[in-house]
Amino acid sequence: MRRTAALIAGGGPAGAATAIMLARAGHAALVIERHRETGDALCGGFLSWRTRDTLDRLGIDRTTLSGHAIARVRVFANGRTGEARLPGEAIGVSRRRLDGMLLARAEAMGGAIERGVAIRSAAPGSVELADGATIACEALFLATGKHDCRGLARPRPQGDPALGLRRRIAPAPQLSRLVGDAIELHLFRGGYAGLLLQEDGSANLCMAVRKSRLAEAGGDPERLMVMLAAESPALAERLAHAGGTAAFDAIGSVPYGWRARDTEPGIFRLGDQAAVIPSLAGEGVGIALTSGMMAAAHWLREGAANSADFQRILATRTARPVRIAGLVAAAADTRIGRPAGPIAIAVMPGLAALLAYATRIAAAPLTARADGTR
Ligand SMILES: Cc1cc2nc3c(=O)[nH]c(=O)nc-3n(C[C@H](O)[C@H](O)[C@H](O)COP(=O)(O)OP(=O)(O)OC[C@H]3O[C@@H](n4cnc5c(N)ncnc54)[C@H](O)[C@@H]3O)c2cc1C
Repeated sequence: MRRTAALIAGGGPAGAATAIMLARAGHAALVIERHRETGDALCGGFLSWRTRDTLDRLGIDRTTLSGHAIARVRVFANGRTGEARLPGEAIGVSRRRLDGMLLARAEAMGGAIERGVAIRSAAPGSVELADGATIACEALFLATGKHDCRGLARPRPQGDPALGLRRRIAPAPQLSRLVGDAIELHLFRGGYAGLLLQEDGSANLCMAVRKSRLAEAGGDPERLMVMLAAESPALAERLAHAGGTAAFDAIGSVPYGWRARDTEPGIFRLGDQAAVIPSLAGEGVGIALTSGMMAAAHWLREGAANSADFQRILATRTARPVRIAGLVAAAADTRIGRPAGPIAIAVMPGLAALLAYATRIAAAPLTARADGTR
């Protein structure tokens, strides 16, 4: 049986950030990533000013990451539009670019990345791979993101869960002029569609939509888009200018609002496996990176046995952003709250900045302990 001190399950932002921080301290962690090639994970592609600072701390070069500059948020609902400046400069960037750079950095610093290998199940002290092999580990950093690992799955959301849908739209000049330097949020009954431009001029259309709403469209995302365009002239205009569109990627039953408050000894839950912030906030990647940095620091200082301490600290740190994003998302999905959204943003532009601040996770301390104490 193979053995390693630190095993990282998943090479997304949370896993890669952990590997970078461990490598920086001289520990070559083993990252197991099921995809052979880095692709475009389902994500809105919005990275806030705070996330950009976190990427700086991980040694990710801003110029190489580039990204499309985003200075404002534009909200649409019921034929109305509200626009406000963001408190700092954000970017729109593809996950292929972001994840590729993070993993390359981890590897360059000495991390071992095994790609094209899926973890079948995990338990404290070991993981079983899809080919039946077992790897024993002192610490398991669970960073499989939107996908649960058998043995350590998150509770499934009940009722009418949200689904994630995403499609890339090839560069189109008229669409680019319409969207410009904004992150657009098109609110509709049962969800929202986020639209922004990315580093290569392509656009990213990403939606969180209730299962029942997709069912009204016969379960067909293309039909759903036709229905949404019929409800919203602004969305219709944008879709009319979308030339080449790729197929939709989809993810089912996103457990928005869920947070891990505890964990088994030796297991550190990171990113979406620790806290799932409503995606409207555009903070999932920020939480993923910060949780990875905090977990690496905690393990280096405390070892694997009291990982529950780390989990509680992380749960406390994610409580406010997740709760506030949940309140905003819930309000945006009511008959009164939805049309009020653009009006509130237009009348009180400071509100957008306030909410943008309140839904960010505080930066990871640079001290060895996750809570910043020595
Ligand atoms: C609709 C929607 C829109 C969003 N928009 C934004 C946004 O604009 N901005 C933002 O910051 N956040 C956004 N998010 C959230 C963001 O995508 C996640 O929070 C973030 O990707 C979490 O990072 P992670 O590293 O935890 O997981 P992931 O990014 O999901 O990475 C997990 C990695 O683990 C790998 N993996 C999974 N299972 C296994 C296995 N069994 N074995 C080996 N490897 C495995 C996967 O291939 C993947 O590489 C959005 C989410 C949704 C659903």
